[in-house]
Amino acid sequence: MIICEKCFCDTEVISVIRNKAEIGDCPLCKCKNVHIYDTDKYEDLSMMFDELISIYTPVSLLPESYPKSDTRLLKSDLINNWNIFNKKSESDVYNIITAICKEKYKYNAELFDHPVGIQELYDQDYLSKHSLLVTNSWDDFVNAIKTKNRFHTHYVDLNLLERFCSYIRKPYKAGELFYRCRISTEEGIPSNEMGAPPKKLTTDGRANARGIRCLYLGDSPETTIHETRAGAYDYVTVGTFKLKKDIIVVDLKEINQISPFIEGIDCLEYAINKEHLNKINDEMGKIMRRSDSALDYVPTQYITDFVKSIIRNDGAAEYAGIEYKSVMHSDGYNLALFDPDLCECVDTQIYRIDMIDYRKHVI
Ligand SMILES: [Zn+2]
Repeated sequence: MIICEKCFCDTEVISVIRNKAEIGDCPLCKCKNVHIYDTDKYEDLSMMFDELISIYTPVSLLPESYPKSDTRLLKSDLINNWNIFNKKSESDVYNIITAICKEKYKYNAELFDHPVGIQELYDQDYLSKHSLLVTNSWDDFVNAIKTKNRFHTHYVDLNLLERFCSYIRKPYKAGELFYRCRISTEEGIPSNEMGAPPKKLTTDGRANARGIRCLYLGDSPETTIHETRAGAYDYVTVGTFKLKKDIIVVDLKEINQISPFIEGIDCLEYAINKEHLNKINDEMGKIMRRSDSALDYVPTQYITDFVKSIIRNDGAAEYAGIEYKSVMHSDGYNLALFDPDLCECVDTQIYRIDMIDYRKHVI
């Protein structure tokens, strides 16, 4: 079967296909003049997919106690839980994986044709050793850190969290521009007052506890204006911030998009932690309401402080900040920089908010 680089969105798979340096037309997605891969000719992808698929067990071999409601077809699970295929239907995915894993299919067709499950998702012994959250529950962690022990909780496996962070490193070069918005008057705010507030005025945020300075930025003026949630006819000042030096941040919006094919990654361990990794990104981007208590920020402050504490061999901090999706502006993202002096405000622009598009639903 001929497949092509455009059939996939996983960077590791794409790079394997490109390395074959064969150009042609893809019969599956109809792309022309693209890098193609013949599953009858090459084995590279077979080894990668065999390993990923081996984390699944067909329903006939799952223990009696495994909830039947939590079994699904391999093709559906690969589409819904892994970001591997580029807009492919279930039948396309079925055809692709049975062609790539033709040997496995010969001896274990059940894995591809019948519902499957991940046995370790319900194996307490495995979970206790490999889950990012010691009791395997985000709610337990939240409750413990809010009400039992704030600074020395043992609910998170920090070694594992550090490893996951290392898979989602994102470098930025000096000179990169970010934006920050504040509600202002028609006169605007001078650029030297657009940065993070001084220590004594610092309040709790998703990435910083009260008293700890942190510079919250957005990827575009639109994102940062949305994040400010200015009202209609308010004036806002948007500052353009220029990065002073090269940095590396943890890109939390990619935390659930890590390729299962990265060298050295433990697919099973990754699979059982996907739910928790998703939760971390969701919590970081969660909409703040006026009624929110400072306590609601404690779980993400804990994760952020941990990222901040990771050091390189030379003792310097590994990461300069964390990046997370913007809930207020889809496709936009936010960057929380641990050291507000890493950026300088080089320009400001005053806007008036003309219209707000309110949407609602009955609850
Ligand atoms: Zn294709």
